[in-house]
Amino acid sequence: MTMTRGNLFILSAPSGAGKSSLIKALLEKQANIKVSVSHTTRAPRPGENNGEHYHFVNVEEFKALIEKGDFFEWAQVFENYYGTSKQAIEDQLNNGIDVFLDIDWQGARQVRELMPDVKTVFILPPSRSELEKRLNNRGQDSQEVIAGRMAEAKSESSHYNEFDYVIVNDDFNTALTELEHIVVAARLQTTAQQIRHKDLITQLLA
Ligand code: 5GP
Repeated sequence: MTMTRGNLFILSAPSGAGKSSLIKALLEKQANIKVSVSHTTRAPRPGENNGEHYHFVNVEEFKALIEKGDFFEWAQVFENYYGTSKQAIEDQLNNGIDVFLDIDWQGARQVRELMPDVKTVFILPPSRSELEKRLNNRGQDSQEVIAGRMAEAKSESSHYNEFDYVIVNDDFNTALTELEHIVVAARLQTTAQQIRHKDLITQLLA
């Protein structure tokens, strides 16, 4: 079997839809997938480690990276800057590893322009009240931040129809299985299979 380039995926969702938990569970179940570690100017939440959840930088450092052309995409989300460095994805894709970007709709738009074959997935919460409950249960952000994020959730969700796939995260395991199916289907695309099974196809068609 010949190695193929990895697939690039985007997973977007309003805050609290369960995106991070879904990615984490996906990485545990499927080999050959990595999630890109973004740069951000927001402060780390309790339990978040530099270089693992994000590369935490200040605004000056972030702007210097923009100037250097290091970002594949970047956007201002809420009051902070977030960006995916080119380095975070290219090596992995070239090594045949599928890469997930956990980014917002603004970043998704930029990536679609640069890589039209990116597979994009939007996660929706099962209801507005459940979303509010989940944001409260997190216990990491203030009430003011939660209220702000509920408003942002509505505007983020309004972009769902720019994405290739939509998953409603009601039952977690169902949502996870659905996400896995998207990953597996992408790996089975003819363009990839042609490369992967070149010898087989040559033999069968001889
Ligand atoms: P949080 O602060 O909750 O970790 O993330 C807030 C939002 O920023 C989420 O919607 C997340 O997907 C988005 N985000 C995280 N990293 C990036 C990035 O590198 N680029 C863009 N465009 N959005 C990002």
